[in-house]
Amino acid sequence: MYHGTKHLFCAVLNSLVILLLFAPLVYGNTPPEHKNDSQAGQEVNKGEIRQYTAEEQAFIDTRPSITVANEFDWPPFDFIADGRPAGFGIDLMDLLARKSGLSISYVNGYTWEELLEMFFSGGIDVLHSLSLTPERQKKAFFSSPYYHSKNVLIFRSDTQDIQTLDDLEQKIIALPKGWSSIEFFKTHYPDVHIIEVESSRQALEYVDQGKVSATMEQEGIATYFIKKFGFTDLELSGWLKNEILQKTSSMHFAVVKTNPILFSILDKALASVTLSEMELLKEKWFSRSGRQIGQADVGLTPEEHSWLKNKNQIRVCILPDRMPFSAIQGNQVVGMTSDFLEIFQEKLKISFQFNLAQSLTDALYQVETGDCDIIPMISKTLARKVQLDFTSAFMDYNVVIISREDYPFISGIPGLKSKKTGMVVAGNIVEKVMEKYPTLKYIPVKTIEECLIDVSTGQLDAAILSLPVASHYIRETGLTNLKVAGHSSIKEDLRIGVQTQNHHLHSIMSKVVRSLNHQELDMIYQKWLGSELEHKPDYTLLWKFMSIAGIILVLVVGWNRKLSRLNKEIAIAHEKLTEKTVELEYISITDSLTGIFNRRHIESVFEIEIKRCVRHGRDLSIIILDIDFFKTVNDTFGHQAGDKVLKQFAGLVKQKIRVTDILGRWGGEEFFIVCPEINLKNVVHLAHTLCRSIEAEDFGKPGVQTASFGVTSFRNGDDTQVMISRADKALYLAKSNGRNRVESIT
Ligand code: GH3
Ligand code: MG
Ligand code: MG
Repeated sequence: MYHGTKHLFCAVLNSLVILLLFAPLVYGNTPPEHKNDSQAGQEVNKGEIRQYTAEEQAFIDTRPSITVANEFDWPPFDFIADGRPAGFGIDLMDLLARKSGLSISYVNGYTWEELLEMFFSGGIDVLHSLSLTPERQKKAFFSSPYYHSKNVLIFRSDTQDIQTLDDLEQKIIALPKGWSSIEFFKTHYPDVHIIEVESSRQALEYVDQGKVSATMEQEGIATYFIKKFGFTDLELSGWLKNEILQKTSSMHFAVVKTNPILFSILDKALASVTLSEMELLKEKWFSRSGRQIGQADVGLTPEEHSWLKNKNQIRVCILPDRMPFSAIQGNQVVGMTSDFLEIFQEKLKISFQFNLAQSLTDALYQVETGDCDIIPMISKTLARKVQLDFTSAFMDYNVVIISREDYPFISGIPGLKSKKTGMVVAGNIVEKVMEKYPTLKYIPVKTIEECLIDVSTGQLDAAILSLPVASHYIRETGLTNLKVAGHSSIKEDLRIGVQTQNHHLHSIMSKVVRSLNHQELDMIYQKWLGSELEHKPDYTLLWKFMSIAGIILVLVVGWNRKLSRLNKEIAIAHEKLTEKTVELEYISITDSLTGIFNRRHIESVFEIEIKRCVRHGRDLSIIILDIDFFKTVNDTFGHQAGDKVLKQFAGLVKQKIRVTDILGRWGGEEFFIVCPEINLKNVVHLAHTLCRSIEAEDFGKPGVQTASFGVTSFRNGDDTQVMISRADKALYLAKSNGRNRVESIT
C-alpha cells in the first residue's frame, strides 16, 4: 500500500476513497464452522444466502427482533436525520435484516461510549460501523470490513507544523470518547494530550475553533464532514504511517461472543450482499445529495440536550442602534439578529432573553461579568477572544469605499493612498483592513454617521464601511451626495460570540449556526438587504420635514431612492460578477467532455507541485496513460460512443486515484496524473491498480478497454519538461511492449 501525502486539493476531494471493500479480514476471528469467504463480485440474492443451520433458523424463527446501536451524530455511517436512524451503516444493517428475515429495533439517545458499554454488557445485540482492535476482538466477533479508508490528521490550514504523529508531541488533540484511537495514543504517544469529546463532529469543531491542534479521522469520513458542514478552514495530513493505527481504519459490525449464532446469521447475510447493492449504498450516502440528508439537524449530543433543557433562557446582548443587524422598535427587537434568533429558537426549542447594551464595549463587559451569554452577529478579533468564543461565520459582507458622488471610481483600498480616508475606531472593520494594508493612513472617526457626514461635506475623501451598514446609514442620514465608489477584497464576517466559560453553549451555538441552510440565509439576506437598499421613506420623518421644506424633502427622497437603486445595482452587478468569475474559473480549468481538469490546469498544477517538491525535498511522481487502440472504438462504434468511453474512463480513473492525486486530460485519449508525495515504487503500484481496474470495467458496447501507462518520479535537477519526456518515453515502452501495462523510468 502506498503512503500518504500532505496537500488537499479541493477539486479532487470529490472522489471519496473507499478502498478494499470486501478485502480479507486483517486478523480474523470467526465463530465455529464459519468460513470467511466473501462472495463479492457475484450477484447473489436472498435466495442464495448460504444455508442457515437448523440452529440459526430456529433463532430467526423464535427471536425475530434484535437490538442494534444507533449513534446520533456520525454521518454518513450512523446518525439521526429527521428523528430517525439514518446512514450507510443503518441501511446496511437494514439490508442484512431483510436478507436474513430478522427485524431490528434501534437503540439511540446514548453516546458512543455508553453504547459500547451497553454492547459489551449484553444490553445491545449488534454494534456496527466500528473498527476492530485486538482488545475488542477478545470479546466480540467482527464481520469482514465493509468500508476502508486510512487515518489522517485534521488541522487548521493556518497550522504549519502538523503532518505526522510525531508532530503531535506536547500538543492537544480531540478524540471522541470510547474511540479505540485513544488507547493507541496513550500507549504509543503518551506525550500527546487528549481531550475526549462527544463526537467526531465536535472534535472537528474543536479544531476549527482552535481549542485543540488536531483530531484524527478516516480520510473518507473527514472529507465528507468537511464538505457537509463547511469546515473550510480545515486541512488533512497524508495517511499516517503507522501499522497499528491503520489496522483500525476499516469498519465492521460486531456481535458479542456469547451470541455466535446471531453473528453467523448476519455474517452470512453480509456475504450475500452484492457489489451493486454496496455501490448503491455508497452512492446514496457519499454523493452530493447524500450529504444533504440530515443537514438541517443541529446534531446535539444527549448531554447538550439535557443541558439545554435545564437552562431556561439564554441571555443575548442586543445593541439597540445597529441596523440592519439590530434595533428596538416599540419593545421589540428587530433586524437580522432577531430573525436569526427566531430560527435558532425554533431549532433548539429554547427562548432567548434580551439584554440591551449601550455599545459593543458595554456588551463585552456584560459578557465578562456574566450578565449575558452571547453576542450575536459580531466579528471575530483577537482582542475579543478574551471574553468570547466564536462560532463559524454565517454571514459575510463586502467592505466598500464610500465617496461623494462626483468622485471618480476608486479601485480598491490601495487606490486610497494619499486620500483622506475615514474609518470608525471601535468598528468591526478597522482591524481587518489594517491587517491587510498595514501602511494605509486613515483618520479615526467615532461613529458611522460622523464618518459619512465628513465624506459628504468634503472633510474626508472616502470612508471604508461594510455595505449593509453604509447603505443603511446613508438612508438614515439622508446624505444624497454619497455613492459606493469602490469595492475592497475584505469581507466583514459575522459570528455568534459565546462567553468563554460556557462550553456547552458554545458547542450548541456552533452547531446551530452550521445547520443554517441556504434558504434560511437567503431569506434573511433578501429581507434586510433588499429593504435596506430599496427602503421606503420614513413617513413620520417625512411629515416633520414636510412642515419645514416639503419640496426639498421630495427631492431628497428622490435622490435617496436613486442612490439606493444605484447601490443595489452595484451590489447585484458585483454579485453577478463574482458568480461569473467563479463560473469562468471553473470553465477555464475544466475539460468540457470529461469534467476533469484540462491540460492547461494540470500543467500549472504540476508546475506548483514540482516547486513544492524541490522546496521541501518531498516525493513527486507522474503518470501518463493512453487508451489502447482507441481509434478502433471510434471507427467501429462512432465518435459519440468514443466520447462516452472517454467520459467513463476519466470517471473511473478519478474514482480510483487518491484524493490528493490530480487528474487531467492531456489530449485526445491521453491522461495525466500528478501524484504528490509518492515514490516510484508506490506510484507503479498505483498505476498497476488503475490498469487492472480499467481492464475490469464494463464499457458497454465498445467492450473491454485497456490503457498503457508511463510512470516516473522526481529526480534532483528535474523540471516539468524533463519529467514529462521521461514519462512519455515510459509510455512509449509500454505501448511497444504490448500495451495494457505499466512501464517506469527512474
Ligand atoms: P494506441 O494504442 O497506439 O494508443 O492506439 P490508438 O488508436 O489509441 O491511438 P491513435 O493515436 O492512433 O488514435 C487516437 C484516437 O483517439 C484518434 C482520435 O480519433 C481519437 N480521439 C481523440 N480525441 C477524441 C475525442 O475527444 N473523442 C473521440 N471520440 N475520439 C477522440
Ligand atoms: Mg491510444
Ligand atoms: Mg494517444
